[in-house]
Amino acid sequence: MVRMEEESPDLTSKVYKLIVEHGKEGILQSELWKALNLTSRDGSRLAIRLEKRGIIKREKILNSGRWTYCLVPLRLPVQIKSIESLPCIICPDEVKCTDNGVITPYKCIRLERWVMQEYKEKQVSV
Ligand code: SF4
Repeated sequence: MVRMEEESPDLTSKVYKLIVEHGKEGILQSELWKALNLTSRDGSRLAIRLEKRGIIKREKILNSGRWTYCLVPLRLPVQIKSIESLPCIICPDEVKCTDNGVITPYKCIRLERWVMQEYKEKQVSV
């Protein structure tokens, strides 16, 4: 199992990448933990972190008679490869970033630049 002590920006980007690859349908968290060999505790922490950043949503669903979460991307990158440069993954302010705080994804210049850069690159490649 991958332990949180080994957690890296790379692991966070792998989690986000897998969620994005499943598109708007999302992926059951248990499937994701299995694919990345994470414990449910560590995986949940990563998912909660991505949800706090406003880039995924955890939807509570009933699956085979048990409540679980489906992880759905809220921000779909234009290109999968751009996930590696998502600023939230290596952000020094990540711990202070909240929905309604001074530091928030809704007024984040880093996130805005990332989105703009993505669109520019997409336009160049079209
Ligand atoms: S401050 Fe911006 S880059 Fe940092 S975690 Fe929040 S939304 Fe992401």
